[in-house]
Amino acid sequence: MQSASLNEARDKQDKQDKQDKQDKNRQQFDVVVVGAGFSGMYLLHKLRGLGFSVAVIEAGDDVGGTWYWNRYPGARCDVPSMEYSFSFDDDLQQDWDWTEVMAGQPEILKYANHIADRYDLRRDVRFNTRVNSAHFDADEQHWQVTTDQGDVYQSRFCVMATGCLSVPNTPTIDGHDDFAGPIYHTGNWPHEGVDFSTVRVGIIGTGSSGIQAIPVIAEQAQHLTVFQRTPNYTMPAHNRPLSDEFLNKAKANYEQIRADQRASMTGIVSYGFGFGGADYFEPTESLLETTAEQRAALVEKKGFGALQQFADISLDPTANELACEMYRDQLARLIDDPQTADALMPKGYPIGCKRPVIDTNYYATFNRDNVTLVDLRRGGIEKITATGVQTAQGHYEFDALVYATGFDAMTGALERIDIRGRNGETLRDVWAAGPRTYLGLQVHGFPNMFTVTGPGSPSVLSNMLVSIEQHVDWISDCIDHMRAHQLQVIEAAAAAEEAWVAHVNQVAENTMFTAPSCNSWYLGANIPGKPRIFMPYVGGVGTYRDKCDEVAAAGYAGFELSAAGT
Ligand code: FAD
Ligand code: NAP
Repeated sequence: MQSASLNEARDKQDKQDKQDKQDKNRQQFDVVVVGAGFSGMYLLHKLRGLGFSVAVIEAGDDVGGTWYWNRYPGARCDVPSMEYSFSFDDDLQQDWDWTEVMAGQPEILKYANHIADRYDLRRDVRFNTRVNSAHFDADEQHWQVTTDQGDVYQSRFCVMATGCLSVPNTPTIDGHDDFAGPIYHTGNWPHEGVDFSTVRVGIIGTGSSGIQAIPVIAEQAQHLTVFQRTPNYTMPAHNRPLSDEFLNKAKANYEQIRADQRASMTGIVSYGFGFGGADYFEPTESLLETTAEQRAALVEKKGFGALQQFADISLDPTANELACEMYRDQLARLIDDPQTADALMPKGYPIGCKRPVIDTNYYATFNRDNVTLVDLRRGGIEKITATGVQTAQGHYEFDALVYATGFDAMTGALERIDIRGRNGETLRDVWAAGPRTYLGLQVHGFPNMFTVTGPGSPSVLSNMLVSIEQHVDWISDCIDHMRAHQLQVIEAAAAAEEAWVAHVNQVAENTMFTAPSCNSWYLGANIPGKPRIFMPYVGGVGTYRDKCDEVAAAGYAGFELSAAGT
């Protein structure tokens, strides 16, 4: 009895100590931003410039987000870097020189660090701090944000810049803990790098991360065993250094390039890479109008490049199937061993259903003597053992294991925070059947909280830097508008959210993304139990931007705005 009351007293004291610590650490800001990737960094710069007090909270020990965490061998951008970069400051884009068409992770991280230095961002970022909860206090009309460091932040606005691909997914496989060697995940790679030169490596996963890492690890390791569940369609990157001449020409045209990116479908115009010397890359031809002989001749002449000029591949299922056949024909030419070629062939789902993958030397890697491909369609993984992976086809031994198994995308980072809205309801519960937003910017019931590149916006279907800039500008303008009009609360109206969700679903219907044979992380299909909902908005970056601008110009139509005390 006595020890029970002692325990109670101790618990009470612990709670009081925690409360005292929180009270002592309570800090007030106009805006709290969670995450210091490109989204959080630009938010800080922009809001600070408008005179708001801002605190950014970041789990990592420095800026860069994706490019801070994903340091695996071969990590690289798959959008031309002249376009995957900020446009908000012309001096910045004129000063910065990208060295390759598609920059590698170290160069992109260097760019992120340059931005942090250039705009003196770090002084307002709390690093090594994870946000555990964010609760809206309906009486005070502010957000209360708590962290794993015991801090409490109060702010009128809370912006989640937590990233769409920031929560690595490690599948639950029996025996994981039995493995005797080191285990890595591409999405959380050791900063000091990993030397595989004296070991045998096993890698699970052949999405973008796996396809980038496999050729580089194969060159280094004694042996590499690739565990492939679903073969992907992947196109050669043709990456190369950028000449001074190209850099100068692109910089001289930056104003037009940026305007065209913003108005485009994906935020990518591939300046300098058009057909026949055209400035922009734009497929216009119809594959359906070609004959079998013409298609064979095209593959013979251009390899995978044969598919690039046809616009109907992404629109028409029959054209898509023809393209898949051309793809497999080209693949067969590249692989020495016919059984390996067959194992690498994607079948039964369309090109374009999953995120396009771009590679350097991926298929050639499977002609190497030190690489084994395990086609899990012939017998899946049963368990991980101390020395490797047991599959239905046999046991494969190695010394180090790499998971290239992706992310709990789009909703993962948000649902890992205990976010509670006006009535105490959690975002997790509100999104139990799938994410619902108005414009991917706000959720009804969660006033004054914004999401950058949230579900329901073009987000991961676009060049993310273009979408991040557009969201940050829109959110900052909105907060500035509220201050100018003495408004305190903005909340997406239920009806506007309902209509937007219906529109997002409707435009995704009958696309390659939602084909019944398609399984992708866009649909949440990579995470067991996640609702199958197509999360991003397919309508296009330009159309979406116009819609957001119209909403703002109409006094934030579809949002309810109220002044202090109302
Ligand atoms: P992130 O960069 O993900 O940053 C979010 C930050 O929030 C992270 O640093 C994280 O630590 C922090 N955070 C999350 N939750 C919390 C919390 N609770 N508390 C504190 N901090 C938190 N996009 C393209 O357009 N082109 C590409 O070529 C491209 N390549 C990619 C390659 C890889 C390997 C990956 C994983 C993604 C790639 N992307 C690409 C998408 C990429 O995520 C975006 O381009 C962009 O970097 C996202 O920036 P962000 O700031 O929105 O999010
Ligand atoms: P991903 O596309 O989700 O791929 C994960 C891979 O792991 C898939 O091959 C998947 O197979 C496999 N996998 C998952 N669980 C498995 C299991 N239990 N057993 C066997 N295999 C399993 O993840 P990602 O490659 O990290 O890429 C995610 C996204 O990040 C990309 O789509 C892209 O947006 C971005 N990214 C971009 C680049 C770039 O080039 N710039 C590079 C990396 C990442 P199934 O397909 O069968 O599920």
